Amino acid sequence: MLSVIVPAYNEEKCIKRAYSAIHSVLTENNIDSEFIFVDDGSSDHTYEEICELSSKEENISGIRFSRNFGKESAISAGLAAVSGSCAVVIDCDLQHPPEKIVEMYRLWEKGYEIVEGIKRERGQEKKTYRVGAKIFYYVISRMAGFDMANSSDFKLLDRKVVDVLNRMPEKGFFRAISYWVGYNKTTVEYDVAERVDGQSKWTSRGLIKYALSNISSYSTAPMQTVTVLGFVMLIISVIFGIWALIDKIIGRALEGMTTVIIITIFIGSIIMISLGIIGYYIARIYEEIKGRPKYIISSSVKSVREK
Ligand code: UDP
Ligand code: MG
Repeated sequence: MLSVIVPAYNEEKCIKRAYSAIHSVLTENNIDSEFIFVDDGSSDHTYEEICELSSKEENISGIRFSRNFGKESAISAGLAAVSGSCAVVIDCDLQHPPEKIVEMYRLWEKGYEIVEGIKRERGQEKKTYRVGAKIFYYVISRMAGFDMANSSDFKLLDRKVVDVLNRMPEKGFFRAISYWVGYNKTTVEYDVAERVDGQSKWTSRGLIKYALSNISSYSTAPMQTVTVLGFVMLIISVIFGIWALIDKIIGRALEGMTTVIIITIFIGSIIMISLGIIGYYIARIYEEIKGRPKYIISSSVKSVREK
């Protein structure tokens, strides 16, 4: 059986549409399925929609969070509830084409343990968003050591992989962690469709926060740059030190006030930036060490009728 995980945040209009679109594609292709809708603390009627659906249809479970914990947490909760032998994560807004699930499922049947959805076209996105996404993926790909451009959360995972992810205590980054675990992988290309209803739930501020936290969780390169900067500063200071000494010997020592000011400001800012970077990692350690749960479930439903 295939478990379909659908994170949903304020998607009241999309729930039923997503269900019928995905479910009909799967039944046409004789793929047995269960649906796990995770309501990520929506403020609209998303959860009521899920409850209604689960009372009418078979094999649907709904999980409701006590507040908005973010898509990553919603995916985690979905993965923890999987009972099928493989699971697929798909957006509620139908931007991930449901037909592709069939293709992914066939590849899984052939023995692939992770089938990755790769965006061919980024769909209708704002220009600033597109540029932002490009830079973000370039940086994170370089830092984390694997290519992440065009990757998405649209993935099909074997039960084994799901179990491994469920055992990971860290608040990871679903997209990257599935690269990190290894296993036998393949990819499926898809075109990003337009959102069927509502708006993207991302704000620019949210995206930047997301980018920073993901870079820091997959790479310690920023901290290493601090060391590199330290060495660069050392070399510069040796050069200036020699210069100052020569000035002193020749008797020109009073000149060069501008240089002093520039160097002081420069070193000051490098130290501040470095402290900031280190502080960021300490904050991450603090977050993880508190060991707070990734999400809190306030209620859940399950279809009465099970197949
Ligand atoms: N989502 C979520 N929690 C959030 C934000 C989004 O569960 O805090 C869900 C959302 O309901 C949708 C999916 O994640 O099913 C992708 O969100 P969205 O379409 O807003 O993102 P985009 O497609 O612009 O990347
Ligand atoms: Mg979307």
